[in-house]
Amino acid sequence: MEPQEDGLRVLVAGAAGFIGSHLCDALLAGGCDVLGVDNFVTGSPRNLGHLADEPRFRFLEHDIVEPLSIEGPLDAIFNLASPASPRDYLAHPVETLRTGAEGTRNLLELARTKGACYVLASTSEVYGDPLEHPQKETYWGNVNPVGPRSCYDESKRFAEALVMAYHRRHGLCTHIARIFNTYGPRMQHDDGRIVPNFIVQALRNQPITVYGDGSQTRSFCYVDDLVEGLILLSRSEEPYPVNLGNPHEMTVLEFARLIRELTGSESEIVFEPLPEDDPQRRQPDIGRAKSVLGWKPRTSLQEGLRLTIEAFRRELGGGG
Ligand code: NAD
Ligand code: UDP
Repeated sequence: MEPQEDGLRVLVAGAAGFIGSHLCDALLAGGCDVLGVDNFVTGSPRNLGHLADEPRFRFLEHDIVEPLSIEGPLDAIFNLASPASPRDYLAHPVETLRTGAEGTRNLLELARTKGACYVLASTSEVYGDPLEHPQKETYWGNVNPVGPRSCYDESKRFAEALVMAYHRRHGLCTHIARIFNTYGPRMQHDDGRIVPNFIVQALRNQPITVYGDGSQTRSFCYVDDLVEGLILLSRSEEPYPVNLGNPHEMTVLEFARLIRELTGSESEIVFEPLPEDDPQRRQPDIGRAKSVLGWKPRTSLQEGLRLTIEAFRRELGGGG
């Protein structure tokens, strides 16, 4: 990690979010000058607090749905701005669609003006409730276009189409990362996603809420690995989507038991209704990332969860 890219000027949209803030750290460690952009709809200034005295980091509070102009050169734009947890995008469906559509376009226009490379943070949700397993980039997906999750899924699918259109029509250097479930320190404790929910519940010895019968699967990638993949992708020649995730697949019930074990919790596991259109299976095929980027995740689930649980324990103030 930390490739030297001294003096490259990089814009990170969604910088105050979970993945965005870790990406800023890695880019700064690699020698880049970073401009963070965020409107704090789901992110927090707390995630960037440690960069307050970093001279190579600047921050602009801005909603990317509005056009933005930036002074001086820009070499790369990473667009991570979007509500990402089901709870957040269900609370902001119109904003999510506008961010994926108008926000993506505004940043693509900026990239065109500056001659910058563009990286879109897309998602495994473009595969919907997949009928192919594991998911390869060539799979077109199984998305309910009018279901509750469609505001997110279709916003990302539209964003991918727009990125490809700018690449084809304007010759823009573009990249599409299809990110699978990623976890780590700085996730919001209350964003409703499985990792923060289970860890907070376990640390507080409260019931761990498994939705449905817990037989649905996910594959969890530690944030440092994901960020490394994003940076390698930005330096590649690959315009087509690349899955970034950890292929280690497990059921939600197995994950609940693992969190209980790693936290030493006495929580009971309870079962609650499965949300509508909850994908039944999800596992990335990372063959393309391996061959094109020479990338694969390095952090084991045990180690990544240990680091995440430690951070949550600190933030919750001891026992939670
Ligand atoms: P997050 O909510 O922590 O971060 C998203 C950030 O974008 C927040 O800081 C939010 O305030 C900002 N944002 C949203 N709309 C904006 C707008 N219109 N203008 C400016 N800023 C805006 O979520 P995250 O988990 O860090 O996800 C980051 C990106 O990665 C998202 O695009 C998400 O779709 C994608 N992704 C994440 C995962 C994951 O498991 N974490 C999986 C797939 C894809
Ligand atoms: N989930 C769960 N209990 C929770 C939160 C989530 O059983 O308290 C399940 C959810 O139904 C889904 C999986 O965990 O099957 C992952 O959910 P998350 O919201 O983290 O993200 P998704 O992968 O669905 O986008």
